Amino acid sequence: MPENRIKDKPYGTYSIYSALKAGLCVACPRCGGMGLVTVQDGRYRFQCSRCGRGEDKVLCGFRYRVQNLCQSCGRFYNVPLYDRRQQTYPVLRVPCPYCGFVMPGRVERTGQSVWYGGDGMLRRGQDPIFGFDLWFRTGFDGKPVWALNREHLAYLIGYLSAGLREKPPANPGLRTQADMLPTFMKTAKHRERLVKKLQKLQQKY
Ligand SMILES: [Zn+2]
Ligand SMILES: [Zn+2]
Repeated sequence: MPENRIKDKPYGTYSIYSALKAGLCVACPRCGGMGLVTVQDGRYRFQCSRCGRGEDKVLCGFRYRVQNLCQSCGRFYNVPLYDRRQQTYPVLRVPCPYCGFVMPGRVERTGQSVWYGGDGMLRRGQDPIFGFDLWFRTGFDGKPVWALNREHLAYLIGYLSAGLREKPPANPGLRTQADMLPTFMKTAKHRERLVKKLQKLQQKY
């Protein structure tokens, strides 16, 4: 049995949402030091820990979704609603994304609105709220590689350097954290070089 094995984390363990609670690490546009982006009550805050620069941002807009425990397959699901008309109903019948079973669910509104720039900015290694470069950010064959914060960085290094990777036992069929990684990061021949680059980032203060 290989000694160096790792159990992957559930999907979304390290996400922009979870990182914003503890602090998303970004580079201060004024001094280049490390700052944190956090969110509280819908208000986003950037605070540089080196020069003290601070910035606030309120993003308006809400997200709508139907959450349910599927009566047919037993899975918990979350269906986002983008259609404005659908968003006005208190209850809506939507199909389960796993098995297609249709049942009514309450339409919920969440304040954690918007990544307007969203995924595209994250893909380039920038925070989607202020557009600052992520602090833990490097390049690999011309592609940006980044971590949201120190915990996420440690996870990536652990995952990529493990000899054997397992899915969490509770949900072998469901997506896991590593499913969020682009293919080039998971390619076996890249892993060693990637881990070295990520370890270099760990030394950044
Ligand atoms: Zn600064
Ligand atoms: Zn279902």
